[in-house]
Amino acid sequence: MHIMNAQTQKSLLTLGGVILIGLIILGFVKYKNLRADNIKLTSTLSVKEEDLLKTNHEKQELTEALTNANATIETFQGQLNGLSSTVGTLVKLKETDPELLKKYSKVYFLNENYVPKGLGDIDPIYRFEKTKPLQFLEKPEPYLYRLLDDARLAGLDLSIVSAYRSFAAQSGLKSTYKISYGSGANAFSADQGYSEHQLGTAVDFTTTKVGGNFVGFDKTPEYAWLLENAYKYGFVLSYPKGNSYYVFEPWHWRFVGVALATRLHEDRQNFMDLEQRQLDAYLVNIFN
Ligand SMILES: [Zn+2]
Repeated sequence: MHIMNAQTQKSLLTLGGVILIGLIILGFVKYKNLRADNIKLTSTLSVKEEDLLKTNHEKQELTEALTNANATIETFQGQLNGLSSTVGTLVKLKETDPELLKKYSKVYFLNENYVPKGLGDIDPIYRFEKTKPLQFLEKPEPYLYRLLDDARLAGLDLSIVSAYRSFAAQSGLKSTYKISYGSGANAFSADQGYSEHQLGTAVDFTTTKVGGNFVGFDKTPEYAWLLENAYKYGFVLSYPKGNSYYVFEPWHWRFVGVALATRLHEDRQNFMDLEQRQLDAYLVNIFN
């Protein structure tokens, strides 16, 4: 075993010490650098976090603004829809002849120059006399045809004997009645009946058996069917049995629209029983 001399031992210790100190210094430097980096990173991180918070806040504000804008658009859209539906109603009302739901009486009747707009020829298959032309307002004509088709499907024999009549034609008719029936003509074809045929929305029905003079029409199954079903097609009996406005005319039916006819049927009321303003409320939807 060799024993190191004291000198060598001392040198080695010194060297070890120097290395150790060097390592400590290096470690310290490294530590300081790392710490500096850490501080820098931490501060960068906090800046980024602040940015992120700010961004999130801005995002929230933008979302709120967007929601508000959408709500405003929706409100405008709603107002616009309401407005266009009002305009639509007004246009529809403007295009609908206000005379169509007027009550005619001895004091209020149509002007002699009144001619309805949109008259059309009635298909011969629905006429009592195939060769005699008849006219009805074109818009409610499909309702009239459906009524007659359904009556025929029910095994009934219903046809139209009279429809649109001009003021002149009606006056002629009245004087004929006057010649035939004398002063009683007023009870058979008075002023109210005039106006409704002049409108182009009133018809006189008959059956083959009853014919053109209507005698006994109120005893037919066709009349009973009309009483139960005509309202479904928008037709009402203008002068029912026992009414106070005019003589009973079981053959004379007027188109007033499905809604009004249904209401009158359900309430067991007559057209003439309602106030004019109540009737006018149904004008806008008369052809629905
Ligand atoms: Zn009539």
